[in-house]
Amino acid sequence: MQTYPIPMVPGPVKVAQEVLEAYQINYGSSDLEPEFLDLYNRTEANLQKIFGTKNRVVIQTGEGMLALWGAMKSCIVPGDRVLAVATGVFGFGMGDLAKSIGAEVEVVGFGYDETLHDWERVEQAIVEFKPKMITVVHCETPSGTLNPIAELGRLKEKHGVPLLYMDSVASAAGTPVLTDEWHVDLALGGSQKCLAVPPSMAYVAVSERAWEIIQEVNYAGYDALLPFQTAQEQFYFPYTPNWAGVAATYAGTEKVLREGLANGFARHEKVAAMCREGVQGMGLELFPRPEAVSSPTVTAVNIPEGLSWQELDTRLRRQGMVVGGSYGPLAGKIFRLGHMGSQADPDLMEKALAALKEAVKEFV
Ligand SMILES: *Cc1c(COP(=O)(O)O)cnc(C)c1O
Repeated sequence: MQTYPIPMVPGPVKVAQEVLEAYQINYGSSDLEPEFLDLYNRTEANLQKIFGTKNRVVIQTGEGMLALWGAMKSCIVPGDRVLAVATGVFGFGMGDLAKSIGAEVEVVGFGYDETLHDWERVEQAIVEFKPKMITVVHCETPSGTLNPIAELGRLKEKHGVPLLYMDSVASAAGTPVLTDEWHVDLALGGSQKCLAVPPSMAYVAVSERAWEIIQEVNYAGYDALLPFQTAQEQFYFPYTPNWAGVAATYAGTEKVLREGLANGFARHEKVAAMCREGVQGMGLELFPRPEAVSSPTVTAVNIPEGLSWQELDTRLRRQGMVVGGSYGPLAGKIFRLGHMGSQADPDLMEKALAALKEAVKEFV
């Protein structure tokens, strides 16, 4: 297949050689070999550091969406109240997800170009609706924004809401994710974003309170979290685990921890700032409002007038660069540069900005 020398898609991102190699081994049976269990446990320990938690981190075969579905279905039964605090495609989508399994859903919605603010409105909704679960998205990838979570966690604690469910698929390993400090009960992750592992694995950090609820709900299904509560102690997984996916996750997390979390976060910040300055410098406009928080992992830019998404994509590909479009109401209006994980690279960003400048020069 054709590959592109300037990959700037916000997931799946480019996978490093050492991670690819870990994925390409003929492993034995993960049900039989204690070596697998040891690898799983060490991978969990690495993920705990990346997700800022002492909680168990479940490693499932699938992708980010599996974490979103599995955690919701494991905790929510028809009639339960779910408050979706939403600033974008995934945030509003979580409300729909909860509705589809019979939850009573209320949405506190903000503009797609905004990040969480107006805490009085959020608090009032918590007090009046009394949800069992609050859902939120940390990095809203389709908008290129990063929501502040600490204050939401504080409100959740203050009002005794049982569960805070946070999508950190596009933020974990790219920016601090402080699961325990923010009182997050279900922190969700996927392999193909900042961890730069092939799209194959889902991760869920589960709090004690969430395990209690998971036991009460007793959901059974391929994506269920419950069997993972005891899977390691009993060396009994609900299906044959994906050894290659766990090994690649281990290699990816080792790479992140070897660099040092703080160094990796600083690299993401630096490349993101370079990206924002570069696109504005060539006369393009950022999608998030100035008062919103732009994500250090992905930058969303308005497509300039006179240029369609298809034409922009064609022009960039001609120069060896691929970016992301967007979804929902943002489709065709904005494009996104994914500088997460391996793609948070100043040299790569320099090339990307040069190609972009060439592609949009008649339209800015
Ligand atoms: C990528 C992503 C997901 C997961 O989507 P997949 O298609 O499973 O990779 C979920 N939430 C956010 C915010 C994402 O960026």
